[in-house]
Amino acid sequence: MDIAFGPVPSRRLGRSLGINNIPPKHCSYSCVYCQVGATPLQEITPRCFMPPALIAEQVSQRLEAVRAHGEAVDYLTFVPDGEPTLDINLASTIEALRPLGVPIAIISNASLISLPTVRETLQLVDWVSLKVDCVDEALWRQINRPHPDLKLSEILEGIAIFARTFQGMLVSETMLLAEFNDGPEVLRPTARFLRNAGIHRAYLSIPHRPPAVRDVRVPDETAITRAHQIFVETGLETELLSAYEGDSFAFSGDLRRDILAVTAVHPMRASALRSLTEKSGGTMATVQAMVAAGELKAVEYAGETFYVRRQTAT
Ligand code: SF4
Repeated sequence: MDIAFGPVPSRRLGRSLGINNIPPKHCSYSCVYCQVGATPLQEITPRCFMPPALIAEQVSQRLEAVRAHGEAVDYLTFVPDGEPTLDINLASTIEALRPLGVPIAIISNASLISLPTVRETLQLVDWVSLKVDCVDEALWRQINRPHPDLKLSEILEGIAIFARTFQGMLVSETMLLAEFNDGPEVLRPTARFLRNAGIHRAYLSIPHRPPAVRDVRVPDETAITRAHQIFVETGLETELLSAYEGDSFAFSGDLRRDILAVTAVHPMRASALRSLTEKSGGTMATVQAMVAAGELKAVEYAGETFYVRRQTAT
């Protein structure tokens, strides 16, 4: 197992050099959508997996190698095939990485955040992503299939406590699953919790790779657009994490490409698309052609037409 990998392009983090501080697959959850498969045995007690010095050495070597090839690295990101806060030495590893001078990020499932030691460790990094797929205990047990000793109420309280003092960038990630958590009755309380907790930006994602449970399905574009709008209406800065990760969102001179880049992140109102096409000297005919080609889908929501990128478009 490579401890350090990449950098990989990440829309959230730019060029992100990944750190595997936990061997696969030690996790407190066994999410139905996990791309690493089911968790053989859920764990909730942090313990030692690898010495911090070994991780820091391998990250340092990798960083040196990629920089020697002229590649930039924007973040060092803890993103193992498991839960990074299960590593009892995580704080020491972060301290050992600091001299490298690169901002540090962690992608966590948040399950251990009720532990003060885990909150203290997360305080040490610059960017934290916490998983919140829903705020309903029974549904959470169905989706995330947690260790039986975990309680969602304690996790949500831990997130709120952490958010009150964290000085870095705090984002959430909510995986949308058809018929699990893509309905308004589930999404509204989830969005309210995230807003009240003070999450800086909410990301909505969908399964991109084969999930642990075969009948898990990606919501259709109507449900994705509705979810995005519910989060936005709740007052959350919200982005979709679709399969499409490339391109900046500024006007590039290529209208079709710009539309695909923006709609991958935000469903666009027809009026916004019209103004983008006019700015580029084009017309809505381009949009209609993209709908006909199956690249975009028009979705009606709350009396308005939105355009969203189809998840199969490349
Ligand atoms: S938290 Fe992440 S690694 Fe753990 S089961 Fe869920 S998706 Fe897989």
